[in-house]
Amino acid sequence: MRQSLMTIDGEAVGGDDSFEIINPATGAPVGRAPQCSPAQLDAAMNAAQRAFTTWRQDAAARREALHRAATVVRKSAQELGPLFTEEQGRPLFASIGEITYSADWLDYYADLEMPDESVVTYPDRTLEISRRPVGVVGAMTPWNAPILLAMWKIAPALAAGNTVVLKPSPFTPLTTLALGRILADTLPPGVLNVLSGLEPLGRDLVAHPTPRKISFTGSVPTGKLVAAAAAQDLKLITLELGGNDAAILLDDVDIDAVLEPLFFSAFANTGQICEATKRVYVPRRLYGKVLDALADRARAARVGNGLEPGVELGPLTTPFQRDHIEELVEDARAAGATIAVGGRRLPGDGYFFEPTVVGDIEDGTRLVDEEQFGPALPVIPYTDLDEAISRANRSPYGLGGSVWTKDLDRARAVARRLDTGRVRINTAGQIPPPEAPFGGVKWSGIGVENGPWGLAAFTELHVTEIANP
Ligand code: NAD
Repeated sequence: MRQSLMTIDGEAVGGDDSFEIINPATGAPVGRAPQCSPAQLDAAMNAAQRAFTTWRQDAAARREALHRAATVVRKSAQELGPLFTEEQGRPLFASIGEITYSADWLDYYADLEMPDESVVTYPDRTLEISRRPVGVVGAMTPWNAPILLAMWKIAPALAAGNTVVLKPSPFTPLTTLALGRILADTLPPGVLNVLSGLEPLGRDLVAHPTPRKISFTGSVPTGKLVAAAAAQDLKLITLELGGNDAAILLDDVDIDAVLEPLFFSAFANTGQICEATKRVYVPRRLYGKVLDALADRARAARVGNGLEPGVELGPLTTPFQRDHIEELVEDARAAGATIAVGGRRLPGDGYFFEPTVVGDIEDGTRLVDEEQFGPALPVIPYTDLDEAISRANRSPYGLGGSVWTKDLDRARAVARRLDTGRVRINTAGQIPPPEAPFGGVKWSGIGVENGPWGLAAFTELHVTEIANP
């Protein structure tokens, strides 16, 4: 069985203890990951602190190292893709795609200039304003897109001159650990440390006195714990949390034209995407047609082991997530909703749940109000567009949303009224590109990742005031 190793100070490190990682498509073990001990956490923090003193000093060396790292990550995609699918469940093409695309962040940030130093001059004094790295960054990632989301942190943090201690989710640590080993040949020791472990490792990482910044992607409840723990030590935080994105279809929508992107906006990665469509609002006149079209598409979806060619939707990544989806669907059924298609877990040892479309459901039902993060989509009729917009906004979440119509002016007007970090018009969207800010409002997060804003988030402003001679 695969025994993965952590990376601490450039070295491959095992643990006194280890834990098992399960293939969600089969229920069989994929491998074991080390349980990082408190002493190993200290060692990683010390290594990152030591490496920071040199890494922060030479921007040209950092650029070169990040470009080299991008090449290495791209080259690793074919080899690591199957491991990614075995621990996370998604189709192989999507695993390889995520690893390959994640390398773009390393190239992008290698070339991005830190916002220029600015100088303010008065007759008697001059103020020089610059940005500097914060120091050691503690980074935590979820299980739904472990490599991309790690790279959204690693690339800008390292480019700005920080060093990183990264901890992937204990459900999917293997590909990230493998990447840590691959990058250990490219980055100086201590610059990127990759640890694995069950809780309380994440908690201990946030509470550790060394990191000055915590960059966290995960659920709202854990995000709140992270914010509270970081506050004890006044650490900087970026939180990328959950969402409950509404898709609003307008009355002129071409259902046939939007069906495929609308379906995948909700079901790609088996619904386990923070910015997936999690509820659909449809003009009452079109409701039956849209419900049937989505149900037909879900019925036709090829569900299976992501290693098999042609599979569109894999299993849920964890048994808890499968149980959560089942619970929300049962709750909707009990409330009188119609299960247009799906609604049941699939037999066997994998964590599969049928692609499910639910009608006759309203706001106030858990499947509509909560983040399901899985393949069960509620479709809700509306009579008045203002009402649909206010229902979309009546949520503690504010990550994304989408508008579907032939009329781009109307779409933009609706988009402007949605209280979210992003809105997509007539598209399921690709993975958000490195250049654009990504983040949510309300409970969906604090701060953004990516673009120059994502780089600035790993820096602090520094002012030097000088008396003019
Ligand atoms: P989670 O909150 O359970 O775990 C996220 C990470 O935090 C994991 O590495 C976990 O081990 C760690 N962790 C657990 N307890 C901790 C603690 N007390 N202190 C510090 N770290 C701790 O989230 P998940 O279930 O892995 O991921 C799914 C969630 O992530 C969904 O809500 C999804 O919407 C969200 N997400 C958000 C984005 C975004 O960019 N906004 C992207 C992907 C996923």
